[in-house]
Amino acid sequence: MLNREFTAERAQREDAHDVLAHVAGEFHHPVDAAGRKQIYLCGHSLGLQPKAAAACVEQELADWRELAVRGHHAAKRPWIGYHERLAEPLANLVGAAPAEVVAMNSLTVNLHLMMVSFFRPAGGRDCVLVEKSAFPSDRYAIDSQLAFHGLDPQSHLIEIGPRPGEWCLRTEDLVDGIGQAGARLALVLLPGVQYQSGQSFNLEPVIAAARQAGAAVGLDLAHAIGNTLLHLHDWNADFAVWCGYKYLNGGPGALGGCFVHDRHAANFELPRFAGWWGHDKDTRFAMGPQFHPMAGAEGWQISNPPILSAAPLLASLDIFRRADLRRLRAKSVALSDFLRRSIEALAPGLVEIITPATAADRGCQLSLRLPRDGKRCFERLSAAGVVGDWREPEILRLAPVPSYNSFVDVFRAAEALARAAAA
Ligand SMILES: *Cc1c(COP(=O)(O)O)cnc(C)c1O
Repeated sequence: MLNREFTAERAQREDAHDVLAHVAGEFHHPVDAAGRKQIYLCGHSLGLQPKAAAACVEQELADWRELAVRGHHAAKRPWIGYHERLAEPLANLVGAAPAEVVAMNSLTVNLHLMMVSFFRPAGGRDCVLVEKSAFPSDRYAIDSQLAFHGLDPQSHLIEIGPRPGEWCLRTEDLVDGIGQAGARLALVLLPGVQYQSGQSFNLEPVIAAARQAGAAVGLDLAHAIGNTLLHLHDWNADFAVWCGYKYLNGGPGALGGCFVHDRHAANFELPRFAGWWGHDKDTRFAMGPQFHPMAGAEGWQISNPPILSAAPLLASLDIFRRADLRRLRAKSVALSDFLRRSIEALAPGLVEIITPATAADRGCQLSLRLPRDGKRCFERLSAAGVVGDWREPEILRLAPVPSYNSFVDVFRAAEALARAAAA
């Protein structure tokens, strides 16, 4: 019965009614060695290339070729203020004002820069609270910041994990943990979407609890930006960081970004690592010895930005602007549901989906637990042309991305998974 609801015809009908179906045509889709189009469900790791990206990069190469140093001011998009073009579209994605956002560096670098300003251990308030399975790079950054302040991660890193037998963290457990750590907390650092489980955190009450406890709050939005709806300004986080190559489709190693809440915009007392691109624009080229930071997130810039790694983001953010994140998110919810229910119908009992089913508690990614022979199943799935990824020891991640995946894609992926898991 259930089986019959999830058919290729049903998927085709969903695609026919999808008002965003045309957006997939704005991306290059990868093919296998035989030239067959793959079913790409790996946007949580590297987003697809917007077709318009090449022209954006070529424009900068041409301006460099023809104008050389004059390109800083005379390029079609003058390099001197290139990053400013990214602020508004990024701000729209994270729910912030443009002055609260800056495109710069990469994620872990930005995390370090933000911790320089917002992790200020003093007196007994000298601990960092994180979720237990935080992304390794974040852990390394935090541990090294603790060590930099002469603190031992063993005693100064507080981790909160899911309850035994559960995969996702309960909001109330986070709130309780924050309350218990209370006056020891200098910083709470949380993901928007957990990279492994695909859980989307209910951030507003957690941020409120952390601020109530007197801690600074930072967010790692690697898997959330361009995926879920965010309201950073209203939620009152102190800072957030993200990368540009996952759901932002900015290309490998793309320019990342940062949010700094506007209550800190003109707080020049905050310690920060300085560089000339954070200096007041009007007097930057007076080349004086004294650092005068710009107000807002831009004041945390250090170096002049890599134009060639910023250019593809312009193309990608323009797709977001036209498609509209709210509509994308609505499709994303439907698409992931379709994948979930197709898997449940076609491969009953063969896989366990650990990502929450409730839309509010997840992004687009589904994490599947394949306890028996999982790696082999993943390899069979890859051989069948479905691109996901494998996280040892037992998690397969599949992310249907609303801008370039279709209902037929996810149905075909579920069919291939059912065959791979049953083999
Ligand atoms: C992808 C990802 C990163 C990557 O860090 P880079 O500095 O961009 O290499 C960091 N943290 C999380 C949670 C991620 O998902």
